[in-house]
This record gives sequence, C-alpha cells and structure tokens, in this order.
Amino acid sequence: LLEKQESIDSGAVAYPNDIPIAFAEGKGATLRDADGNTFIDMFAGIGVLNVGHSNPYVLEAVHEQTDRLVHTVDFPTEERLELIEKLGEIVPPGLRGESKVVFGGPTGSDAVEAAIKLAKYNTGGTGLIAFRGAYHGATSGAMALTSNKGFKDDYTPLIPDVVHAKYPSPYADRHESGDAASICSRPASECCGAVSCARALREVKEIVEDPYGGLANPAGIFVEPIQGEGGIIVPPEGFLKGLREIATENDIPLIFDEIQSGFGRTGKWWGCEWHGVTPDIMTTAKALGGIGFPLSATIYHEDLDTWGPGGHAGTYRGHVVAMKAGSRAIEYIEEHDLLAHARDLGDHIRGRLDAVAAGNDHLGDVRGKGLFIGAEFVDDDGEPSAEIVKAIQKYCYEHGVLVWKAGRHKNVLRLLPPLVLTEDLADTALDVIVEAIEHATA
Ligand code: PMP
Repeated sequence: LLEKQESIDSGAVAYPNDIPIAFAEGKGATLRDADGNTFIDMFAGIGVLNVGHSNPYVLEAVHEQTDRLVHTVDFPTEERLELIEKLGEIVPPGLRGESKVVFGGPTGSDAVEAAIKLAKYNTGGTGLIAFRGAYHGATSGAMALTSNKGFKDDYTPLIPDVVHAKYPSPYADRHESGDAASICSRPASECCGAVSCARALREVKEIVEDPYGGLANPAGIFVEPIQGEGGIIVPPEGFLKGLREIATENDIPLIFDEIQSGFGRTGKWWGCEWHGVTPDIMTTAKALGGIGFPLSATIYHEDLDTWGPGGHAGTYRGHVVAMKAGSRAIEYIEEHDLLAHARDLGDHIRGRLDAVAAGNDHLGDVRGKGLFIGAEFVDDDGEPSAEIVKAIQKYCYEHGVLVWKAGRHKNVLRLLPPLVLTEDLADTALDVIVEAIEHATA
C-alpha cells in the first residue's frame, strides 16, 4: 500500500513518511495496520474521532440511514433539524435559545469561509483580525487568517485586510516583564495580570480603533479559544474576555474557531467555555460528523441571521448521514459523561507528563485542557527542538502508539485521543510515550 500510494497518490499527502504504516481498521481508541499490528490512537485523525473509531452506537444509526436517505442539500429532513436542535442545546450558554446554524461542506475551512462572509455581510467591513500561530484552514480566506507564511506565501494575494496580532500565553509570560494592569485594555480590577495578555489586547484595540494605521473598516476578530496547530496554547484568563469587550465596544463580531478545540475535546463542549465567554459566530467541523463523516457548521447569534435564501450556498450542506452521525455522537458523549471523563483523563495524562518534566530539562512545558494536550520540547540550549519531537513520534509509532505534533517550531508533542480512551489504555500509551521521551532526550 505504501509503495502504491507513493506511485499513484498526490505528492501533497501529509503523514510522516519515514514511518511506514498503512491502516486497515479502527475500533474505539485503537487502530490496526494492514499487517495486523495494533496501535493506540492518541491523535484521533487530528481530533475527529471523539467518540472513537466505528463507535457502535453511531454506526447503528449510520447503517439505518444509508439504507434510507443520504443527501438532500437544504431540504428539511428529520435528521437535519434534529442536529440543529441538538447543537442549539450544547452551544455556549450565552448563545442558547438564540443561535442559528448554517451547515457547510465537508471541511473546517468551509465553516471558516462562511464565518468570514457572515461577518463581512453583517458589518459591511473588510478588515479581519487573527492571531499569530493561528491555523484556520487551506482555502483562500481561511489561509489568509492562518498566520504561518509557509502555508500561504506561494498563493498571494489572498483576501486583503487581515492583520495578525500577538496571541498571549502563560509561556510568553515567562519571558515578559512589566505591569500588566497598567497596559491592559480592561479595567485594572479585571486585568488577569498576564503581561502577554495585556499587550495582546492593547494591540488588538489599536488595530481595531486607531485611525492612524489601524484597520480602516474592521469586520471581525477570529480566534481559536485554545490554539491547536499553533501548539496547544491556552491563553491567560483575561484574553477572550478582553476580546469580547473590544468586539462589543466596536460593534464587530467575535468569532471563535472551535474546529479543533470544540465538540468535547477539552472536557467542555467548547473551548471558550473554560473562559465563560460567548462568541457571536463560531465554527465547528472535525468531530461534528460523529465517526469521521465530513461535516462542518457555522453557528451564530440570531441577530446576525441576515442572509436571504441562497445567501450562502454549498452542495454538501445536506449530508443526512453525517448529520445523523453528529446527533448520535452528541447523545453518546452526554450519555457516557465523556466531558467529565475527558477532564479527568486529561488531568491524569498531564500529571504523568508533568512528573517526567520535573526530571527532564528537555520537556519544557505540559499544557492543555481535557484531552487537548501539548508537551513542548527544547534542546540543550533551551531552544525549540523539532528533532526531539520527531524522534518521540517515530519511537511511539514503532511501539504501537500514534502521536502527532504541533507548534510553529514543530516542537510540541500533541495528544488528541478519542474521548472514549480508557485510563488503562492511556497508561499503556503513556508508558511508551515516557520511554520515547527518555530515549529521544537521552
Ligand atoms: N480551524 C482549526 C482551528 C483547525 O485546527 C483546522 C484543521 N486543523 C481548520 C480550521 C481547518 O479544518 P479543515 O482541515 O477540515 O479544513
């Protein structure tokens, strides 16, 4: 399979190709390769298989659905309306009872494009603020919002008027000094005390409001509540709150990209719930399709529901099987209390990695929420080390554990296991990961 892929597939396929694996089967939190070897899946198809591979509860409904009806574009079906209702119940509390959903095509990028259009349409603005380290997708608008120049410089011009501001982090705060409250855009009593956060908010405020060099006509602020591709970066407490205030004061939508951080991944339905902040628009995809069916959605406050019929179009907005799978996944997560499980298991995994970090100078930082976990590695000089993470990944693959990486320097080991991962299986995977860390940093 590997030889055949190399000869007939696109050169653009992306997996670590020095690690020869071809998959044949997935079940729960494990995968089996074409030779019959079993792997513990600690990345879930980049955060897609939250209820596990071929989850039987979802699959049962999928089989019934494929026999009956697969696709209808926007015509009403029970399955479509059921998913809209279910999403309406689990959206961040501030949107409950007031949300609308526009389904997108198969990818997260589709949802991001819809969010860009909706923000522009409602404000009449053109300018968008995004953040350094952000990843929002591979289509032109989403690429413009993505900060990594490596992804996009060969395709310019993309959509104009996108400015990337600093994304704060507790990590950055270890290198920053200053009095946060004196530079924070928030009232001193509400400043969270993080200098990186205060500086980032001040920068956003200037971009939105400064008539000399700011965005002439802002349309919205796009932010991942926890950065995924950027390296699992959880912002300080005040950041999303500060962005909420700036967006409200300037009457522009605050848009949360929950494609990776949402749908239960962090142990709450949405990453933003850790900060108690409500967006005007949010995007979801990946795990929304239940067990890997392609589906995305842009969810927004009903006040922004200004598009007329056909105001935003797309053929695959009516994929009934994906919608049914999404509804069943929501039920499964609720019935099995997987949000609490993700929080507890995430604490356990981070606890074990923290214990390693205490005795290993190369493991600089362990972070995340729920089962959205990053571990950052540095070399002997304290500089980001992609080599160490590559070596860990290879060792893990050779010993039956699938892990991924992230971060602008590719030096963050990323763990996004299915939420159905048991503690026993997590410990088996961690035994290998810890060995891999020792091996790669010896
Ligand atoms: N936004 C975020 C936060 C993502 O993590 C991703 C994918 N990693 C996307 C958007 C794009 O999603 P897709 O690859 O499905 O287009």
